Amino acid sequence: MTNPVTRALRLRVISGSPLLAVAFCLAAAVLLTATQAQAPTGGLLQESVRAGRPEVGVPDEFWQVLLRSVLRVTMFAAAAVTLTWRARAARPEASVWRWFARTAWVAAAASMLAGVVDCLTVRGPLEGVGGGGAVLGAGVLAACPLLYQGLVRWNRYGTHLSEPGDWLNGIGAAFALTAIGNLLLPLVDSPIAAWPLWQEQLWLLRISAEITLLGSAATILHIGGLHRDVRAWALTLSLAAVVGVEVAAVHDPVAAVGNGPVSELGWTLLAVTFALTAVLRAVPPLARPVTTTAPTAGAFVALLASIVVLVAAGLSSGTVGGRATTAAAVAGGLGAISVSVRGVQLIRLLADLVVHRREALTDDLTDLANRRALNLELGRAYRAGRDLTLVLIDLDGFKRVNDRFGHAVGDELLRRAATVVRSAAGPDTFTARFGGDEFAVALPTASVDEAADLVAALARETAAPVLIGGRRLLVTGSIGIASSLDADDPEQLLALADAAVYRAKAAGGARAAVHDDAAAAEAAEEVRLVEELQALLGNPDAVPGTDPGRLDVHYQPQLDRLGRVVGVEALVRWRNARRGLLPPDVFLPLVEDYGLMPALTGAVLRQAAEQTASWRARGWRVRLSVNLSATCLTHPALSSLVDDVLADTGLPPSDLVLEVTETSVMADPAGSVARLLDLADRGVEISIDDYGTGYSSLAYLRDLPAAELKLDRSLVADVGTDPRADETVEVLHVLRQLGCDETQGYLHSRPLSAADFERWFERSRAACRLTVGADD
Ligand code: C2E
Ligand code: CA
Repeated sequence: MTNPVTRALRLRVISGSPLLAVAFCLAAAVLLTATQAQAPTGGLLQESVRAGRPEVGVPDEFWQVLLRSVLRVTMFAAAAVTLTWRARAARPEASVWRWFARTAWVAAAASMLAGVVDCLTVRGPLEGVGGGGAVLGAGVLAACPLLYQGLVRWNRYGTHLSEPGDWLNGIGAAFALTAIGNLLLPLVDSPIAAWPLWQEQLWLLRISAEITLLGSAATILHIGGLHRDVRAWALTLSLAAVVGVEVAAVHDPVAAVGNGPVSELGWTLLAVTFALTAVLRAVPPLARPVTTTAPTAGAFVALLASIVVLVAAGLSSGTVGGRATTAAAVAGGLGAISVSVRGVQLIRLLADLVVHRREALTDDLTDLANRRALNLELGRAYRAGRDLTLVLIDLDGFKRVNDRFGHAVGDELLRRAATVVRSAAGPDTFTARFGGDEFAVALPTASVDEAADLVAALARETAAPVLIGGRRLLVTGSIGIASSLDADDPEQLLALADAAVYRAKAAGGARAAVHDDAAAAEAAEEVRLVEELQALLGNPDAVPGTDPGRLDVHYQPQLDRLGRVVGVEALVRWRNARRGLLPPDVFLPLVEDYGLMPALTGAVLRQAAEQTASWRARGWRVRLSVNLSATCLTHPALSSLVDDVLADTGLPPSDLVLEVTETSVMADPAGSVARLLDLADRGVEISIDDYGTGYSSLAYLRDLPAAELKLDRSLVADVGTDPRADETVEVLHVLRQLGCDETQGYLHSRPLSAADFERWFERSRAACRLTVGADD
């Protein structure tokens, strides 16, 4: 039993399939076809119809009609059972098969009714009525929309394109085809044209519905990505057989009746195909992009056909018989109406889409275009080769306003800002809210100078404070400007403008910066430095493989009144692998901005403490001063860092001085004072650095446990810049007279590397000994 064909089949058949029902369907179909073929004239009842004189009452005939009816009902019912099972058995095609099952149930019901009518015609009160063929034909017609529903749903599994109005396309197409059929029928000289009007129209409508089904199946095979699905092919081919058989019967009125021998063949084949395909596993449809082309094209074709028919009906009313033209016109009209309804539906959908699109491109809060819209606009401009200048405006201190006064005030502020930006930007510009507190204006010019007007207007508008929620707020923005001439694509343009904003902010905000190449190079270098700093300070975000070089602490001596070296200030330098020794002003702002200050302070403190401890071990007693920035001052781990370093190096706390500036204390006065008291408790000394440069609040100064006040050099004249040493020596004398215990400056020495300091120290000790000796 390991026949490969059997095995392949078993793999494809869904387990638990109602194979008995399939077998019933198949057997009934074979017997039905056989009885039809055996009938001498292709069907006794039809023979009676053909002869125009129903030979009723023949017992043989009655039993044959009954048998065929039973077979027909059995066939459709067995198919329906199989399909119903399939609809319940397996997702995801459940709804497809539910509609197919309904189709089969309707066919079974129609067969039953047709059978009763046929039997009563042969032997009973309906004598001479013309048979159940018409009933079956009507049943088939009723089944067509159900089948269509199934096919449409099958399509959706492939494209996930939900088109609830598809059925209008179907009805439109069927009516259009009916109209065409009405015009063609007299031309092909079909005896059907001689039938009663209702019967003729029913016949035409049925064929049209079947052709529509065939067209739909073929289309779905294509757009639904069902090429690999045997089931889809089988159903399409059976529908082709149905249509072929019906069309072939156009000259044979007997065959054309619903249960005519040939006509029956098509639907028998369809029933069997349905039953067989229902037990086969689904083949996943090929993924297809969602498109609106297919439904639109469908509607268009049906509309066009209906119009053509209406026109043709009008033109041919003279040549073709009046009945045919009227019928064609009516059918064409109906087709046009259903397709027009579908058209209206599509238009409504389109209008909805436009609204959605608008919503998707608009910022809710300010009604300006949003970031997506700006990106689209920039993309369009670049594709069309249109020059533009991009102006980015970033509000200064917006986050603070939001945090302090709440979101309602923040939102109102953004709305006001949007109004200001829009009115300053003027007409012919594209204005968008680009991000939280960022606005963008695209000016239709490549010249960045033209942005000057906008900048001036913005400056004018933001000069006075605005009243929001009872608060007077001064709102300014930092502006970055870049021209499309400098950027190859929208992303680069945005990046340049953004970098310019960053520079404007760095320069203190409320100003504008224009992109230029030097600035761009500077920005790129800055990015590189930041990457290197991250690697240097062991940041996990660091780009792997970066060689950052190393931190190099320099020491500047501090001398007492007698000229003895009593301490050193640790001043950090960075020996950068690319650029050599960098002074702190080059990289400390970046260290601060990128949150690396605690790491840097830790590294400096440790390096300097180890160095000082090693000097101590040699018998040189120097105090170590280390600078603390504002972020370190409030860092929770500061005290434990100091503890660890002191414990690890053995440096006594009294030999460590931490320098803080007034400005950094003022960032969080209460917290800073508490932290410094905590450190002072450990015996560490606190020094107020740069005294006289910041804004001095004596109130807090009094609370600080400071042991030292370092007067800034700006307070004591140009000590450092003045090359004439005698004058600076004079200043030194004055300072000492004023009560300054210790001094530090170029006068004594520049900051030195550890090795240089050691040499300098040896020399200075010798000199000091000499001087002191001379004085004595
Ligand atoms: P600061 O704390 O005021 O350090 C003194 C600065 O003045 C040093 O500059 C020093 O070289 C310079 N200086 C000393 N005497 C003279 C003089 O006679 N004339 C002139 N013109 N300058 C003199 P440096 O080393 O460039 O450091 C600049 C600033 O960087 C420091 O100012 C300090 O605020 C900061 N800094 C340096 N190292 C560190 C550190 O490890 N951590 C932190 N947080 N900041 C540091
Ligand atoms: Ca200092």
